[in-house]
Amino acid sequence: MATTGMAIVAPDGRFLQVNPALCDIIDYHAADLTNMSFQDITHPDDLAYDLSQMQRLLAGDIDSYQLEKRYLRRDGDAVWIELAVALVRHEDGTPAYFIAQIKDISERKQFEEQLRHQAFHDPLTGLPNRGLFVDRLEHSLARAVRTGETLAVLFLDLDNFKLINDSLGHRAGDQLLQAMADRLLHCVRPGDTVARLGGDEFTVLLENIAGVGDAVRVAQRIAEQSLTLYTIGDRQVTVTASIGLALSGPDGSTPDDLIRNADTAMYEAKRRGRSRYEVYTPRMHAHARDRLELEIALQRGLERGEFVLHYQPVVDLQTGRINEVEALVRWDSPERGLLEAEAFIGIADEAGIALGIGDWVLRSACRQLRRWQRDVVSDEPLTMSVNLSTRQFLEPTLVEDVRAVLRQTGVPPETLKLEITERVVMEDAETTTATLRDLKALGVTLAIDDFGTGYSSLSYLTRFAVDILKIDRRFVAGIGRSAEDTAIVEAVIAIARTLGISTIAEGIETAGQLAHLRGLRCDCGQGHFFAPPLPAGELADLLRRRVTLPLPHPLSGDVPEDSAQWGDASTGR
Ligand code: C2E
Ligand code: MG
Ligand code: MG
Repeated sequence: MATTGMAIVAPDGRFLQVNPALCDIIDYHAADLTNMSFQDITHPDDLAYDLSQMQRLLAGDIDSYQLEKRYLRRDGDAVWIELAVALVRHEDGTPAYFIAQIKDISERKQFEEQLRHQAFHDPLTGLPNRGLFVDRLEHSLARAVRTGETLAVLFLDLDNFKLINDSLGHRAGDQLLQAMADRLLHCVRPGDTVARLGGDEFTVLLENIAGVGDAVRVAQRIAEQSLTLYTIGDRQVTVTASIGLALSGPDGSTPDDLIRNADTAMYEAKRRGRSRYEVYTPRMHAHARDRLELEIALQRGLERGEFVLHYQPVVDLQTGRINEVEALVRWDSPERGLLEAEAFIGIADEAGIALGIGDWVLRSACRQLRRWQRDVVSDEPLTMSVNLSTRQFLEPTLVEDVRAVLRQTGVPPETLKLEITERVVMEDAETTTATLRDLKALGVTLAIDDFGTGYSSLSYLTRFAVDILKIDRRFVAGIGRSAEDTAIVEAVIAIARTLGISTIAEGIETAGQLAHLRGLRCDCGQGHFFAPPLPAGELADLLRRRVTLPLPHPLSGDVPEDSAQWGDASTGR
């Protein structure tokens, strides 16, 4: 009932008369109220102001007043009201009584409170948003300057959220963020602030810490308790994050400084391999700037056509023939010179440029392959191996894109091989299985690259229907030197064979490694021992001459250690 409460109040505050609406608002009987004064039912925090206005009214300074304040209901709960008060005087001018109008505004207040909450909180997790975080940080910094205490900001960015979102769907992503927010709150003290800046970025404000050790301990606690296994629906996902820490002090004296420093440290944690924390140091700024410049230059490089492909022969270890080449991208940067993929492909992937580069690589490699198949080795099959980046593999249009490139270039599907790294495959087994099956349906061949560096189990291999395993060069390098590496290479080749999967050894550099691999009946190999990745012209030359490699006897390895001697089939050399 939105009727207005009315009261006649004596100059000392006693209720003389009240109407039913007022009784409703504060849940008292009229008879009770007329034994009380308005002071009795006013919220203590609001009393002083009301009294001061009343004094001014009595003194004749003002004719009436209005204010918003809280009454206390009979059960003790506060209720927000809007009060309008006027004074009636006797004929001689002395105060007779007040007339008060009282409106219940609790709904409006609640709505305002809700709006204020919404303006300062993230709707998904209920955590403070950037605005509120900056506000609290500002207050804490001001206090820290006065008291000399130290505070820290943690900047946390999930490492694999995009993959989770892309593979499990946005709803699952949202659920994960909510669960994550809950766990984060459990890792800090009650006075500390956990905020969500947006996306998969969280910040934590730690107040009054003794030093960097305290902040590091919180980061470790977060890593142990918040960054673990989550069950989303019927799926289990492992979450890791990169965390940057920044402390207040000469380098971090404004909220913006501190947040930016923590962000920079977070990037450093990403750069050093993710799933770790780093404490900000001023030197990190230079890194972050360099990296940004590199991203911009990469994007420009793509637009200006600065990328080129080099091709590394893959040698059949039984015949010594080259029936396959791997396309490896190079960036011929005017400022930086010719860069190998290692130097920029990871950054391109993170900066979202990998899709553009990958598109170009696939198209160019297929065009080149078709030319070689037609003009250079028309009587023998030649396969081109192309690396797919993580982003590329997760792109929903990947299968369609590959199909289109095959059609446009006229490359027979069985002569295109796609390489994906083990890490990508394991990220989400079910989506992966579907994508791999669709790719296979196009007729292309599939290889798992850098095998052994990730965490895949061999049992997945049959399920993924991969054709080839490429044994990472780290293990090849250890052959004959490290018992463990040697054993891994042996086991991988043996298991792959029983599963009907072929093997390619990467990074063969010595005749000894080659001999050992041949002894294990590894199918193919590539590496500097045969040839480094070569520009198209030089590779075409090798293909044209139909070179074969004189392979060492499986166990004797009696070939010069330094490099291979290419036999030349076309000249009979
Ligand atoms: P990867 O596919 O395993 O490629 C083999 C890498 O090992 C190449 O490095 C190659 O130059 C190098 N390599 C070959 N033989 C030897 C050897 O005997 N010893 C040593 N130490 N290294 C050898 P690169 O070109 O820098 O490529 C690094 C990685 O970048 C590649 O590993 C691949 O994962 C990725 N990559 C290269 N090109 C592309 C591309 O076009 N697209 C995508 N998405 N990734 C690419
Ligand atoms: Mg590769
Ligand atoms: Mg590899």
